[in-house]
Amino acid sequence: MGRADIEKEVTKFQPHIVMTGHSGSTPAHPACLLVLEAARSACPDTLAVYGGVYPTYHAKDILSRHSFVDAIVRGEGEAVALDLVRAVADGAPLDGVKGLSFRSAENEFRENAPALVISDLNLWRVGWELIEDWDLYQCFGLGRAAIVQFSRGCPHRCSYCGQYQFWSKWRYREPKAVAAEIAWLHRQHGVNFVDLADENPTSSKRLWREFLQAMADENVPVRLFATIRATDIVRDADLLALMKKAGMICVLMGIETTDAETLVSIRKGSTVREDQKAVELLREHGILSMLGHIVGFEEERFADYARAIRQVSIYDPDLVNAMYVTPHRWSDWAAENGERKVIQKDHAKWDYRNQLLASRHLSAKAIFWLVKLMELVVHARPRALWRILFHKDRELRAHLRWCFRFSFRVWRAEVTEFVRRPPDERTTLTLAEWFGRARGEAK
Ligand code: SF4
Repeated sequence: MGRADIEKEVTKFQPHIVMTGHSGSTPAHPACLLVLEAARSACPDTLAVYGGVYPTYHAKDILSRHSFVDAIVRGEGEAVALDLVRAVADGAPLDGVKGLSFRSAENEFRENAPALVISDLNLWRVGWELIEDWDLYQCFGLGRAAIVQFSRGCPHRCSYCGQYQFWSKWRYREPKAVAAEIAWLHRQHGVNFVDLADENPTSSKRLWREFLQAMADENVPVRLFATIRATDIVRDADLLALMKKAGMICVLMGIETTDAETLVSIRKGSTVREDQKAVELLREHGILSMLGHIVGFEEERFADYARAIRQVSIYDPDLVNAMYVTPHRWSDWAAENGERKVIQKDHAKWDYRNQLLASRHLSAKAIFWLVKLMELVVHARPRALWRILFHKDRELRAHLRWCFRFSFRVWRAEVTEFVRRPPDERTTLTLAEWFGRARGEAK
């Protein structure tokens, strides 16, 4: 919705509170600000509340810079949002709402104590009834799609990650209930594709097996997509047949890099051997593999890119998602790399698909073309092309074709955008300054 439409809707509804949250992070920030500014201008007395990962760690900056934001829900939002609404309804002071930062009547920044995380996710439900038009949500060429959480959080501690600290600890929903909900989404709303939004759904092998079994028992033609660590694919090799039966069609594995030393330095906890083995195992069981590869952890040289392209090709994935390192203010990696130069100042582009940090050894232009070359080389290898054309599984062949069509459109659009608006490489802004630490602000 554009600003005028938001203003129109808010004027019609006259809400006491407007809340915007987002499941993503930094790139959604400009859109969230636009929504809240439009809401405030349409309804000056409304309480404008912002929540999500990015505002949690930038609460003070946001409240001091944007007068149209009144309060920020920090951390996991559901329970805090409910407490906030109760306080507003009762006319109680906001000081009592744990997990809230807000601007006081005296225009001062207030930060309440953190809220406890929800201990039992089963007591909370998803407001599926809020979706008005299911046809707006489609993915993977399978028609209607939904994003479902089986679990939250992650027990691992990758140095660049923005997730494990936000969710605090790994928690899960009852496996059978999640499977029943997915089956209900299919029967009730015609959902055919479910993306598991979990950071790490396989944290417990026992619960993961229960979920897969429950999905297989539901026997609905819903296809699943999940992000799973390569180490867990190897660990759970005995579950892959069940995973296929449960409907898993594609697994994204964030291998991040093919350099063994970098894997250690970012605390990934996997090895290049396991990454390659995971691709092989998925293929043996008729599940597509998508590798997430990230450049920029180190200031790589030309030879590093050449090795990465060669290595990813040897892994032989079905798809590759080539990304750029995207630092988060609260991550250890950002603290360790504060001197790196920021070349992209548009928050909307902090989405892993744009280069944000300069490298001493190669220009942004050279890095961009090397990344695009990696995508091209990996996807256009004879073996990859053969699978698109002649994969023996008709369903997988159709998905591969769909993915290639859309990937190519993205590839072309990103090239056009880069040529038209390349990043500003003359910058002297450091990452520490970008995140405000140079001004003595808290991490
Ligand atoms: S495994 Fe994934 S979610 Fe867990 S800490 Fe590492 S990057 Fe984050």
